[in-house]
Amino acid sequence: MARYGSAYRASAEKETGMEIMDVRAIPLRRELRARFANAQKWIGSREYCLVRAETRKGVVGWGECWGPIAGNREIVERTVAPRLAGERVDEVEALHDELVFELRSSYHSFVPASVVSGVDVALWDAYGKSVDRSVSRLLGGRRRESVPAYATGHFFRDVDSIEELETIVAEEARSHVDRGFTALKQKIGLGRHFPWGTEEDLRLVAAVREEVGDGVDLMVDANHSYDVADATRVARGLADYDVRFFEEPVPPEVGYYADLADRTVTPLAGGECWAFREEFDRALAEGGLAYVQPDVTSAGGITSTARVASMAEARNIQTYPHVFGSAVALAASLQVLATIPGDPMLEFDRTENPIREGLAVEPITNDGDRVPIRDAPGIGIEVDEDVLAEYEVEL
Ligand SMILES: [Mg+2]
Repeated sequence: MARYGSAYRASAEKETGMEIMDVRAIPLRRELRARFANAQKWIGSREYCLVRAETRKGVVGWGECWGPIAGNREIVERTVAPRLAGERVDEVEALHDELVFELRSSYHSFVPASVVSGVDVALWDAYGKSVDRSVSRLLGGRRRESVPAYATGHFFRDVDSIEELETIVAEEARSHVDRGFTALKQKIGLGRHFPWGTEEDLRLVAAVREEVGDGVDLMVDANHSYDVADATRVARGLADYDVRFFEEPVPPEVGYYADLADRTVTPLAGGECWAFREEFDRALAEGGLAYVQPDVTSAGGITSTARVASMAEARNIQTYPHVFGSAVALAASLQVLATIPGDPMLEFDRTENPIREGLAVEPITNDGDRVPIRDAPGIGIEVDEDVLAEYEVEL
């Protein structure tokens, strides 16, 4: 048996209108008013490589690639677009597998997962819009009409003292609670940008917990910045603050989750840096994860995120998709969230991001501590072409 689908897939109907006629990459960028940082890097602008796929009937689907525009754009337009010409959007899962196989042949040690992801999401959106069904229905059914959301933010700012940062982060936490959120995620891992360490990281957590009280769910994210010793120290310290999960304590390629889980009481989360079934299979088999976090823009699109959710369910592990993209990524993530077994939550990025807010004709917003999941064709949004033109850049 061939590991991947045969190249001789044949369609019963020769012409359906769902043939892919055009695939292109659209680079967007917007500078931010004030930069912010996670444990890895300072972020002064938001940029996205969107994917636009158009069918013979003129239906347009949108996708989004994780990461810098450079690289994603070239591979989408020069390698993937010619390969997909004439294929049908309702064969998206088969096309996904064939793309992975063919890109591995081209790139060997790295398959450009962000490219596969952006294209996969665009094809699902075009498929749904072609048959007038939401992606959540095409995936097999909606388990919920809205999903609880946690506010992601609390990034580091340019400050001179830890006290100043504690005040900024606590005030931000208060603002999210005032807008109806009952769950928050904050950043830790100051050591790369500031002359501080794990003690100050825990002070930030204490400041937020003190500000919002015990009735709010709190999560922390170290963006895989700690070594084993610091990850263990912080995990033990977090036990004092009733933290729902400790995200990415160590680098994604380091197999330490199982050991760390044995040493601490705080549940662990991770997965935003992994792609495709095989990496997630290894991570889930190693153990130690309580929450797994595939991202539709980097794990392999809607196809891979739904597959990972199913794999995780088989191990009784909850999937909370990672979301830090434009309105396209947010809408696509919501469609998968409608279908995930158990009690998933939406990661709702609350940082300043005009592309996330403005790109959809009807922006996606929270209703208290939940976000409604649209049952509209495709990923459920229409892209505002004027906003798109405003943010498009030539690089
Ligand atoms: Mg994270």
